[in-house]
Amino acid sequence: MIDGAQTPVLEMEDVHVSFRVRAGGWRGGRVQAVDGVSLTVERGEALALVGESGSGKSTCARAITGLVRPSDGTIRVNGVELGRLHGRALREHRGKVQMVFQDPYSSLDPSMVIGESIAEVVALTDRLRGKALKDRVAELLGLVGLRAEHATRYPHEFSGGQRQRIAIARALARRPELVVMDEAISALDVSSQAQIIELLVRLRAELGLSYLFISHDLSAMRALVDRVAVLYLGRLVEIRSADEFYGDPAHPYSASLITAVPTPDPVAQRKRERVVIAGEIPDPANPPSGCTFHTRCPHRMDVCAQQRPATRELPDGGRVACHLPGPVSATFAVSAPPA
Ligand code: SF4
Repeated sequence: MIDGAQTPVLEMEDVHVSFRVRAGGWRGGRVQAVDGVSLTVERGEALALVGESGSGKSTCARAITGLVRPSDGTIRVNGVELGRLHGRALREHRGKVQMVFQDPYSSLDPSMVIGESIAEVVALTDRLRGKALKDRVAELLGLVGLRAEHATRYPHEFSGGQRQRIAIARALARRPELVVMDEAISALDVSSQAQIIELLVRLRAELGLSYLFISHDLSAMRALVDRVAVLYLGRLVEIRSADEFYGDPAHPYSASLITAVPTPDPVAQRKRERVVIAGEIPDPANPPSGCTFHTRCPHRMDVCAQQRPATRELPDGGRVACHLPGPVSATFAVSAPPA
């Protein structure tokens, strides 16, 4: 019997998602948006899934929330395989994984006061009416740092940060176990970002939530996550504890992402050498052979274009997919990017 307390809240096992694309966009044919991704989010854990636009991170999020079906592989939530669920069972299960998007305005009906907007989500999980429903809406508003009287206001009466709080309240209304934040803080100004980060940290402690942060913003993630997973052209290239990842990245692509983030210490910033990568992310419909990062990697070797690197375990328990025998630290001497 599976011990519920030990079962990861999310397990992805060799997940593939592919899309057919029309001629004229990315040359036509099929795009392998997610290519064999395996990862877990443990109960109470916060994991960041990072990468450039086109890396497949948002497609991963959509597969996890059931918005797209994987073409292969398995996704389990609380040990239950999503692909085996249908109808009501699937809908109920989906409630356990809630997504918060970058633009909260898009998920709020501008003609509805936010109390109604939250109440309609509450009704999907709890059969409450009258005062009990009003109290639950007030409780949710309180959880995200808003007041009960805010329930009678319309979305346009709130700031961007407040609207993101409302989106989080709607997500919490389903009593989720995993909240997927899809670039949900990246569009906010720095002060609103700091407040939302503080809120998410508090909610995690109070409600025992698990988070999956989909983000391209590594600096914002640092204060929030336990582990970081890096995607490149749909493949998972590194997954490590946040301390190991930020301190000594194992994959050259991770090193380039990290060294692009300014450090608050000007001395460390001057000492640190930027790991530069060349060009843009390649066409996902026509990915490079072998290691798909070889066209941009400053450390590429002959083998890199020929063989896809196997994923190997690191001494700290992380995993990396690279032919280099050791880690690439953030202070690694910069090599000239390939011409
Ligand atoms: Fe660079 Fe080769 Fe490692 Fe790919 S496998 S990241 S090209 S060193």
